[in-house]
Parts: sequence; structure tokens; C-alpha cells
Amino acid sequence: MKIPFNRPFIIGKELYYISQSVISGHTAGDGVFTKKCHELIKEKLGARMVLLTTSCTAALEMSAILCNIGPGDEVILPSFTFVSTVNAFYMRGARPVFVDIRPDTLNLDETKVEEAITEKTKVIVPVHYGGVGCDMDVIMDIANRHGLLVVEDAAHALHSEYKEQYLGTIGDIGAFSFHETKNYICGEGGAIILNNEDFIERAEIVREKGTDRSKFFRGEVDKYTWVDLGSSYLPSDILAAFLYAQLENMDEIDIRRRTIFDYYLKTLSPLAEKGVLKLPVIPPECRSCGHLFYIILKDEEIRNGLMNYLKSRGIGAVFHYLPLHLSTVGSSLGGKDGQLPVTESVSGRLLRLPLFYELKEDEQDYIVESIRSFFDRGLQ
Ligand SMILES: *Cc1c(COP(=O)(O)O)cnc(C)c1O
Repeated sequence: MKIPFNRPFIIGKELYYISQSVISGHTAGDGVFTKKCHELIKEKLGARMVLLTTSCTAALEMSAILCNIGPGDEVILPSFTFVSTVNAFYMRGARPVFVDIRPDTLNLDETKVEEAITEKTKVIVPVHYGGVGCDMDVIMDIANRHGLLVVEDAAHALHSEYKEQYLGTIGDIGAFSFHETKNYICGEGGAIILNNEDFIERAEIVREKGTDRSKFFRGEVDKYTWVDLGSSYLPSDILAAFLYAQLENMDEIDIRRRTIFDYYLKTLSPLAEKGVLKLPVIPPECRSCGHLFYIILKDEEIRNGLMNYLKSRGIGAVFHYLPLHLSTVGSSLGGKDGQLPVTESVSGRLLRLPLFYELKEDEQDYIVESIRSFFDRGLQ
């Protein structure tokens, strides 16, 4: 059997909608399908304003511009995350202040946020790892007390909830990804969610190269011009067409992924009880979209051994983030070994298992069986 880590999929009318978009004669940004996606996400999440972007990276870059990040500002974020979470702010001159993660959810440790705040702190960026919500009540309370903005990196978390609120709609801004490895895909794509009234008008401008072109198209101004910072952050309507077909089937995709997640959890729990591995934890106040499934092994050597063993059996299991504070740029900014013990310990021991819409039951059984046999045969 050959089971990749991820397999991009088509669920319904993706190709039909693409042809419709091409026939419509409007394949640039903000065409019919982009508007349909905006409406669908807005309605689903109960969000104030949604704009598709070319990626989650782009949505985060827009966030940094909207938050007026400049040299000398500090941004609090986990080190255990994708590089774009930090780069979007670093690009504008901010100094990243990395905070450790919780050992259970691997999310930003909300009990360590307050001590990282200085006079220069401007934004907190919680990352909802795997689609499991950070403790947003605590984070929002800290932000409100200190006058800070909150940008949720919800790249994994479209359709996940925290206390019955959708992730991405709780902070001032939320950022989603539709990269082919995420739950709902269009190859490369993203969305920015504006929950703070102050950002709504400016977001359209930043996304349209710093011009008021969106107003012009709506007939609100008679010509458009350069008014602010900005870049080309809007995706082609062809990509929106693909995405719309996926979003129309959001519930079905969600159910399938959560079924796969729950099945891993159930079938691997005997190994967790034996103490050979640790399973993901979803706090009771969170409902996860089942973005990814990971196991945590006892040490890095066992993790790498299991990863290679699964590879030899045709299974694509992969590790995840290398701590940002120990990366090339992170170390140049003063990041040190031992600074974030949970991040450093988890990063070397975590292994992600295949989880995609079309993963079949017998494939999943084969993966679980392979993990069992690794431990049964004492291969570790
Ligand atoms: C995937 C990912 C991103 C970036 O998403 P793109 O759409 O590929 O730009 C940002 N943050 C996290 C946590 C991610 O996993």
C-alpha cells in the first residue's frame, strides 16, 4: 500500500465552476465566485467582513499593515508555528517575542503571555494548532487590559469553534488558508476576516494595491488612486471558483475529517494507555475541524525510527514545525536552546499521520496496524 501524507481532492463542481468563471469573462479578482465565497464564509461564521486573499501568508501580511506594525514594535506569538506567522510582522520591522506552548494542545500558553508584554508590544498572534482553539477568553482579556490587538492565525481552523464561536471571528482579525494541505483547498489561497470595525474600510484598500479601486467598482468614487500601503492580495476568480465548490461541501468535508481523527484517537488509545505515545488533547470548550492528527513519541530517536518504519511501509508520516526561535533568523535575533522547553521538546517528538478527505478505512487500518507492529516488534 502507498499512502501519501496528503492528497488534494475534488469534491463536487470545482471544474464546472472554473469553466463558468472563464466563460463569464471575468477571471481577475473579485468576480462572481469570489463574491459567492465571501457570502458563504460570512454567513457560515457570522463574520462581519471576509475577503479572499492569495494565501494565509497574504492575509497575515495584510494584518500587519492594518495593525500599523513598524520598526520597534513587538509581536507575541508561538515559536511552534509556520514561518509566515512571524514573517508577516517581521517584514514590517517588528521584533518577534516567542512564547512557549501548552504541553496538551500545543497552542500558545496563555499563562505565559502577560509576562512577555512590554511597552512596545502591539499584537498577540495565537495560532490554533491543528484546528484546536487557543484559550481565547484569557488571551482576549489580556489584550483588552493592555490595549493590544489580536490576530488569530486560523490557517488550520476554518469551521472550528471555541465556546461556540468560530475561530477566526474572536480576535480583531482572523486569517485562513486554502493551501492544498488544508481542509478546504484551491491550491494556494486564503482569507482575512475583519472583526474590528476600524479595519474594514482600510482592508479593501490594502488588498487592492493600496488604492480605493473597490469603492470605484461600487460607484462610490469616480476614479481610483493611490491612498495607502498595499499589495496585490486578491486571488483570481478561477481559484475562487474552485474554492466555492469546496466550501459548498464544508459540512461533508468537516464530518469526514473529524471521523478520521476520531478513529485514530480510538484505535491508538491502547498504545497511549501503555505509555508509548501521547495523543492530541481537545479541551471540552473546543470543537475541532480535525485539521491534523499527530502523535508524540518518547524521544526524537523513536519518532525518527517510527517515521522511517512507516515510510518503508509506504506511509507518508511527517514531522512538523522546527522551532522558529532556533531557526537561522530566530537565532540571529537572540533565540537560544532551552528558552522554550515545551516547544523544543515537542518539536523533536511529534509525528503527523496521513489525514485527508479521501483516506479510506482500510488505509487508516493499515497505518494504525503499522504503528502497532512497530511497538510490538520492539523496533523502537
Ligand atoms: C499553512 C499555514 C500558514 C500559511 O498558509 P498559506 O496559505 O500557505 O500562506 C500560516 N500559518 C499556519 C499556522 C499554517 O499552517
